[in-house]
Amino acid sequence: MNKYPNSLENLIEAFQSLPSVGRKTAERYALYIFSNMEEEKLIDFSNSLISIKKDIKKCPCCGNITENDLCNICSDPQRNKKQVLVVESIKDLYTIESLKEYKGIYHVLGGVISFSKGITIHDLNIDSLEEKVKNKEVNELILATNATLEGETTARYLKELLKDYDVKITRIAHGLPVGGDISYLDEMTILKAMEGRREY
Ligand SMILES: [Zn+2]
Repeated sequence: MNKYPNSLENLIEAFQSLPSVGRKTAERYALYIFSNMEEEKLIDFSNSLISIKKDIKKCPCCGNITENDLCNICSDPQRNKKQVLVVESIKDLYTIESLKEYKGIYHVLGGVISFSKGITIHDLNIDSLEEKVKNKEVNELILATNATLEGETTARYLKELLKDYDVKITRIAHGLPVGGDISYLDEMTILKAMEGRREY
């Protein structure tokens, strides 16, 4: 059944395991690498793949990725550590960060509660957030999970979990379309959503 030699087939399968990459695209990538990439470039490419796991770790404070003990946001003395913006993913953090407007710090959940995918609160980075709130390290929590059923469920859960603590909980609202994924929205929509956050 294999059309290609095993090593090429393995590479095709590796590409196919990436999101949104089907068989045809995976074949194109693999053949491109074989035919067009010089060995030196290929070594750089594979080294950068390996170093992702070797050199990058999660920031223990917020769940962002970093090569240091703390991420560059948590270790920045200019950032307001009392304001914490809760996002689903590292990609959402980078999307909001690229606007250069937000001056607080983040907390990355690493997903959302999803009954269909079997993701529960125990799979998410929630304990350290609760700990921070419990220790009065946070004045305001901005819940910026996506406007999807799962995002909304997760925001409600967090609100319920933390409601008895002395912390202001807000939720970004205006401009976020239902079903909207933050990382696909334009800057203006996200800024409006941040400005329009309300007590939650
Ligand atoms: Zn951090």
